[in-house]
Amino acid sequence: MDSSRTSHDVTVAMVADRMRTLGAHLDGEVVQRLGLGMTACTSARKVEFDFVRLAEYIRGKHRDVQEKMYEYVISRPELQTPVDTSKDDHRELCMRQLLELVRETGIRPFGYALEDPEKYFAIMEAIGSMDISLGIKMSVQYRYYFVKLGSLWGGSVINLGTKRHKDKYFDGIDSFAMTKLHHGSNVQGIKTTATFDLVNDEFIIDTPNDGGIKWWIGNAAVHGKFATVFAKLLLPTQGVEGFSNMGVQAFIVPSREMKTHRTLPGVKINDCGYKVGLNGVDNGALRFHSVRMPRENLLNRFGDVSRDGKYTSPLPTVNKRVAATLGELVGGRVGLAYSSVGVLKIAITIAMRYCLLRQQFGPPKQPEVGIPDYQSQQHKLMPILASAYAFHFATGQLVRKCSEMKISHDDELVGDVHVGSAGLKAYVTSYTAKSTSICRESCGGHGYAAVNRFGGLRNDHDIFQTFEGDNTVLLQQVCRWFSLVLFVTWMLA
Ligand SMILES: Cc1cc2nc3c(=O)[nH]c(=O)nc-3n(C[C@H](O)[C@H](O)[C@H](O)COP(=O)(O)OP(=O)(O)OC[C@H]3O[C@@H](n4cnc5c(N)ncnc54)[C@H](O)[C@@H]3O)c2cc1C
Repeated sequence: MDSSRTSHDVTVAMVADRMRTLGAHLDGEVVQRLGLGMTACTSARKVEFDFVRLAEYIRGKHRDVQEKMYEYVISRPELQTPVDTSKDDHRELCMRQLLELVRETGIRPFGYALEDPEKYFAIMEAIGSMDISLGIKMSVQYRYYFVKLGSLWGGSVINLGTKRHKDKYFDGIDSFAMTKLHHGSNVQGIKTTATFDLVNDEFIIDTPNDGGIKWWIGNAAVHGKFATVFAKLLLPTQGVEGFSNMGVQAFIVPSREMKTHRTLPGVKINDCGYKVGLNGVDNGALRFHSVRMPRENLLNRFGDVSRDGKYTSPLPTVNKRVAATLGELVGGRVGLAYSSVGVLKIAITIAMRYCLLRQQFGPPKQPEVGIPDYQSQQHKLMPILASAYAFHFATGQLVRKCSEMKISHDDELVGDVHVGSAGLKAYVTSYTAKSTSICRESCGGHGYAAVNRFGGLRNDHDIFQTFEGDNTVLLQQVCRWFSLVLFVTWMLA
């Protein structure tokens, strides 16, 4: 080394060299000369491929509607979520995105949900790729992407209610309140009570203590006007003083005034505040103190109360009723597994495109090579790419089975969808959570720039492992189901 050069000079020279190399990666002419054009990444690898046919095969008959969503998003840059937005701005933007998207593109989430669930999923995939908060906000409202399979607000009304509820409650932005401060996974541990008042023909909803506060409720902190609330149904015991516990049922409980948006008397709403991700969704906590509502607000598909306080149900036991009620919410899990694959596709696409253009150390005295040529880089990315395809088809099949189940109510299919959705949701969301980190690492330092999205994807997606059923608890359900099947098979053998 030239002894007159200081370490500062050497650093400057190294930085300049690095900048030249980086610049060459970005310079259009050099990129073209090296055959690394952005238009088709495969040109870097000299691969011939029919992209149109692949896209048609993968995205199927709903490719057009997805394209429409993408075109809309591109045409409205002011609706795109900035990387450095505050929680409050993000929430308002998300609400605006949802309202304008529905109004301006003419999509009808409830309609598709009933008529063509796969179309609903296709739309949600496209919307979620714009901002996962938006996808989740929409799913809390219309749940999960379609009420027919649904689970949260729209889904709970459709699946647990009867015609009177469907006719009345399809407008507005609403919430779904099952999780309590002290119990999330254990739904049967619910503390909130719904006591029937025989004189006034009303239910009275009460949160008995802090542990019973409904927590993490999507859309509740700012925008929600109604919530589907899970509560223990208490009926006056015939002939004697006291109440009988009829088990957990769902109720439609208004939380805010329709016109003024003021919180209703007896309802206390708190904001769950900043989260690790999904800050476009306003999660809140709900507490009820003697909130009265008409008897019709009971979602009465699996159990009803007559004017004289008598209980009827097509199902014989409390456990069967709880199982049927929770079973109707399986669509949320199906939707989450499907959406998680959407996140995986985005992460691997960004990583692959970047890596195909990125070059590092070459052989001695030779130009640098593209980083996909490193075996370790292939080991990082190729399994993720392959899994994204496999999960796409697996979750697509789950969606189809779930739609069929809703029509046929076939017992075998019900079992398949329950175990399939629990297993796939747990497996896919855990895999995606790990893979977004690997994709970030595979892009080196540039993967850490917020604008390149890995941080947002990772943070927004992380909770997919917990909500709609904690993954550990879901895998236990899968194991229990398989043990039962094995036991029955052994008994019959
Ligand atoms: C952003 C966000 C949005 C949400 N939106 C809603 C909503 O709109 N409506 C709603 O009702 N809820 C919502 N939730 C709540 C969510 O569904 C619950 O957090 C989830 O069900 C897990 O329950 P928990 O938080 O009580 O966790 P816990 O059940 O307390 O789990 C904590 C730990 O204990 C472990 N564990 C629990 N039970 C077992 C077991 N039997 N065996 C072994 N390990 C176990 C879990 O694996 C986990 O590691 C939301 C949550 C978040 C964070």
